[in-house]
Amino acid sequence: MNCRSELLGEAHRRALAYVEGARDRRVYPDTAALAGLAGFDEPLPTTGADAIETIDRLDRLGSPATVASTGGRYFGFVVGGSLPTALATDWMVSAWDQCSTMPVNSPAVAKIESVAASWILDVLTLPSESAVAFVTGASAGNLIALAAARRHLLLKRGYDVDEQGLCGAPKLRIVASEEIHATLIKMLGILGLGRSCIERVETDGQGRVRVDKLPPLDDTTIVCLQAGNVNSGAFDPFRAVAERVRAAGAWLHVDGAFGLWARAAPAFAHLADGVDLADSWVTDGHKYLNVPYDCGIVICRHPDALRGSMSLAAAYMPTGEQVPAKDMVVEFSRRARGVPVWAALRTLGRDGVADLVARTSRHATSLANGLRELGFDIHNDIVLNQVVASIGSPELTSRVCQLAQLDGTCWFGTTRWKGRDAIRLSVSSWASTDEDISASLAAIARAVSTARLELRTKV
Ligand SMILES: *Cc1c(COP(=O)(O)O)cnc(C)c1O
Repeated sequence: MNCRSELLGEAHRRALAYVEGARDRRVYPDTAALAGLAGFDEPLPTTGADAIETIDRLDRLGSPATVASTGGRYFGFVVGGSLPTALATDWMVSAWDQCSTMPVNSPAVAKIESVAASWILDVLTLPSESAVAFVTGASAGNLIALAAARRHLLLKRGYDVDEQGLCGAPKLRIVASEEIHATLIKMLGILGLGRSCIERVETDGQGRVRVDKLPPLDDTTIVCLQAGNVNSGAFDPFRAVAERVRAAGAWLHVDGAFGLWARAAPAFAHLADGVDLADSWVTDGHKYLNVPYDCGIVICRHPDALRGSMSLAAAYMPTGEQVPAKDMVVEFSRRARGVPVWAALRTLGRDGVADLVARTSRHATSLANGLRELGFDIHNDIVLNQVVASIGSPELTSRVCQLAQLDGTCWFGTTRWKGRDAIRLSVSSWASTDEDISASLAAIARAVSTARLELRTKV
């Protein structure tokens, strides 16, 4: 065996052990594992260190201090897991190391990503004429979709913002849910549309935009809605808003980082009813579809607007029939991040994607029911995969969360929801099982007992 085979074999062996062990280990690293990270503090070697020893160090010090989000009991943020097929494909993608800029860089990647793109439109039942591009995440997707929206609306007024710039451009209005994700606000800032110029629309108790609170729209307005509120999982009333948007000649953008996948499950598709009437959509591969980080997807009904704002050319870049990735995304050189999407969709199939959504939703319902039995108030309707809850005082809720995190059986964080301090759990991994839910609820029950006792003795 040559050095390279030995090294790759060693990494493979360790990665496999890591993945196999993720189910049984503590979800969040303990203090010893965190202290071990100090082992990375060393001066840059003058002569290169040994490769096998480097992989050993990475695994010995690094792996124990990772968060086992690939196991079945990580409910923090909305993180997703990694389907075995998607991970395996990601390994192949790393081995190929294709610069996936244009078809000439990698005919294989261009072909596979184009198939994945058409499957995305199919499984999410979105307009077949839409452009689909694979980006680093929903953040980048939001940036690109909003750039396309900006171009489209201003071009209709005879102004080419991508050529002429924002100075002197007609002013655009942004009408967005008060619950819109922080990444979207950031992208509005980057695009020169302003973080604080947003006309925020009031939402109901579940975090859904109230149609009666929508301001008058016009053809200079970009409206931003959500499929899947990051706390409650709730969906905005797309059909009602889309009708107003269309009548006004405005643009409707939907951030569906995880929630858009409800479209793929017959029993949940009604949640995103009318979402197909939007002009642009963003979703993640690395959340609900469970492909490895980093993978997001931007979809745009107006391919010309997307390309108009993202394309670039140079003498050394050949032109061809297929629209190259470089003309749809921010990056020039890029990882073949659409390939694991292809593999995930192919191996799950239509039924498998629907089952992933249905199963995680069932687990979220079980978590909510179990929490209710422990004395929690559940603050959201469990429409998809998110649970927002609190128990007793804010102090008790926060302490229960802290103790559950220390226990290590599962992990979830806190949030503030409609003026309340709460815990937030998201079931978004294929790996979660009924046993994971039971074990997690048992751990939370222990945390509740301990926290109650502590607070009582304090008084
Ligand atoms: C996670 C999330 C984002 C940001 O997505 P990234 O993939 O982390 O860039 C945007 N919107 C919503 C609703 C999200 O849940």
